Amino acid sequence: MLEIESILSHSGPYHLAQKGKQIMLLDELNALTQFHAENSEAYGNILNKTNLKFQAQTLEEVPYLPVQLFKMVDLFSLPDSERFKTLNSSGTTGQQVSRIHIDRYTASLQTKALNVIVRSFLGKNRLPMIIVDFDFLKNRHQFSARSAGTIGFSQFGHHHLYLLDEYMNIRWDELERFLEEFKNQPIFLFGFTFIVWQNFLEELRKQNTSLDLSGSILIHGGGWKKLHEHTVTDQVFKNVLKERLRIDQVYNYYGMVEQVGSIYMQCECGYLHTPDFADVLIRHPHHLKPLPYGESGLIQVLSMLPRSYPGHSLLTEDIGVILGEDDCPCGRKGKYFSVAGRLPKAEIRGCSDTMTST
Ligand SMILES: [Zn+2]
Repeated sequence: MLEIESILSHSGPYHLAQKGKQIMLLDELNALTQFHAENSEAYGNILNKTNLKFQAQTLEEVPYLPVQLFKMVDLFSLPDSERFKTLNSSGTTGQQVSRIHIDRYTASLQTKALNVIVRSFLGKNRLPMIIVDFDFLKNRHQFSARSAGTIGFSQFGHHHLYLLDEYMNIRWDELERFLEEFKNQPIFLFGFTFIVWQNFLEELRKQNTSLDLSGSILIHGGGWKKLHEHTVTDQVFKNVLKERLRIDQVYNYYGMVEQVGSIYMQCECGYLHTPDFADVLIRHPHHLKPLPYGESGLIQVLSMLPRSYPGHSLLTEDIGVILGEDDCPCGRKGKYFSVAGRLPKAEIRGCSDTMTST
């Protein structure tokens, strides 16, 4: 059995402590670098031209691509006949979107990874589920990061209620019927952070309405940029959920379409956690050297999942800080960190700068 399959078959994804995890990850990531360099001509050329090391001695030495590169180049390490689906990042009209090509095997690893992470928070049983969005399955051609995320999380619930109509207004009648049917049962709510805030919580506030969803769980992700513009912090978000819905189990997650399945869930202490098969490093925004814990910089994400495209080591445009490793009070092993937002556009270096600076 491959290392990744053995890890994904464990009952929880937060077991490995620093030393063992580093050795295992380094082996796996080196093998992925080698495989992608041999099978993706574009990736092989990038590595050759930049003298990046194929066989790293430390995680910091593992070559990385800037995540924006997937908006410019199609990178696929398998024959075209193996292409199972293509994921697109969400982007506003006119913006370039990432294209991530997935084969069946990578897709199955992504599903298993999401499963082992989310089950460790939600438990084994599926719960009645409210999706804080409109039913975009009616528009299947819009296969965006948002719909892919929702479809991925839908497997953890049953009797799915799409809370919003196509105009993004709350479907009050359907909600009341749903809450009546599942009275006194915990409900699993899922949605994108900004939509949960703007189309659900703000609406409850405007109408001065509260609901009793005590015992329920909300998982939300998708970035804080818009919320920070509205000066909404994680704590404010949680306070309003408690006040309006009586929900106190609220978990944000950090993830991206370029590494589906490798999500970083927020623990009860408010920190994002690396699962056993993924890791994060922080680099200085200008000279890109690795930074020690406690210093904020660009987040680099490492993951054992991407088998069909060279996305196992990516430098993001997000700013974050690692707070520690293996000693979070919640008991989970691995690094824990927080994300502060995105680097302002003007400060983002070009792809070519990033690739030649190591
Ligand atoms: Zn924790």
